[in-house]
Amino acid sequence: MTLSLPSGELAPVGKSETAQKPSLVGLSRTDLAARLADLGVPERQTRMRARQLWSWLYVRGETDFLAMTDIATDLRGELEANFTLERPAIVTEQVSLDGTRKWLLRLSDGKEIETVYIPEEDRGTLCISSQIGCTLTCSFCHTGTQKLVRNLSAGEIVGQIMLARDRLGDWPGATPPDPRGLPDAARKISNVVLMGMGEPLYNFDNVRDACAVAADGAGLAIGKRRTTLSTSGVAPEIPRWGEEAGTMLAISLHAVRDDLRDTLVPINKKWPIKELLQACRNYPGLSNAKRITFEYVMLKGVNDSVADAKELVRLLAKIPAKINLIPFNPWPGAPYECSDWEQIEKFAEVVNRAGYASPVRSPRGRDIMAACGQLRSESIRQRRSVQLAPST
Ligand code: SAH
Ligand code: SF4
Repeated sequence: MTLSLPSGELAPVGKSETAQKPSLVGLSRTDLAARLADLGVPERQTRMRARQLWSWLYVRGETDFLAMTDIATDLRGELEANFTLERPAIVTEQVSLDGTRKWLLRLSDGKEIETVYIPEEDRGTLCISSQIGCTLTCSFCHTGTQKLVRNLSAGEIVGQIMLARDRLGDWPGATPPDPRGLPDAARKISNVVLMGMGEPLYNFDNVRDACAVAADGAGLAIGKRRTTLSTSGVAPEIPRWGEEAGTMLAISLHAVRDDLRDTLVPINKKWPIKELLQACRNYPGLSNAKRITFEYVMLKGVNDSVADAKELVRLLAKIPAKINLIPFNPWPGAPYECSDWEQIEKFAEVVNRAGYASPVRSPRGRDIMAACGQLRSESIRQRRSVQLAPST
């Protein structure tokens, strides 16, 4: 059962679709200073004003320029006249029985993305999107069946975090509008994963800039050790990502032979397993404390044999790694089934014996189609059913 709030009950944080003024959300300190200079703030003041603005945006989550009491009244008026503090607008918010939340968000050009929040007892993880759709066509992923519309801007990526913090009451002094299932922790969002829609390394610069804004200790403070980028295997960009962003890394491996990976994760034809693993070995700063997570979706009769498990362990032997077995999350028309639980256990046992702890990821938010690889499917389906309804 889905506890879905009718969209009409939600006051969207901003009316992005009609906005003419640009939003300052997601801008770096340097960009904020440049916008202030454009408004005529004298050069000797821009840094100080940018610092104040930064703090209102990213420490307090303020959504109204006029409330920024330490900024001169005239300047507040100028900011109000020229910019907004809008986040993406909420189209729907769904809360799963397990507390997982999924937001369908509308961007200023009317395009839509999804963001998912996964609460645990002592932490909360926000899964954000990096693109609208995906150019890649992994055969088990629903996002892969949708055409890419475009890359998200850095502001739209940071905007997902800001919006989630608004809805979770995750700003100092704020209370959550709906506290169901939230962790008992000071920070509701402790971790961010780039595992929503899109291939983040195909939107490298914007994702990197967004991560830098999010990581700033005097702001959102979601540091690079608490941020994980998941890639399908854009091998040449992996070491560069390590140098320029240095977040934790997850690799969507899913197969241990090139012939199979070519069909599951077609980018493998460009950068096969050997090349991908070599790029992983070159990821800066790897150690037992900073391991790469290898994701492996469990597809019945396809990649789930004990021989596959042994080969997986052999392939990763010299890389500081974690292994994450993901039970396949079905979507309408998917050409695969999830492996039987018994088979997952057999597979996990081989992985366990090789020294990898608790490798199976429990699926979250399946009842609201918020689990890995299900994003956007329900919203598209709902829309289709609306379109197909007979006219009266
Ligand atoms: N594009 C990036 C990040 C988004 S997908 C990537 O591919 O890594 C996040 C994870 O969910 C990836 O490991 C992806 O392979 C996996 N995934 C996609 N569809 C899935 C499905 N239907 N069931 C389970 N996992 C899936
Ligand atoms: Fe794109 Fe990742 Fe889905 Fe592959 S698994 S289609 S890369 S979102």
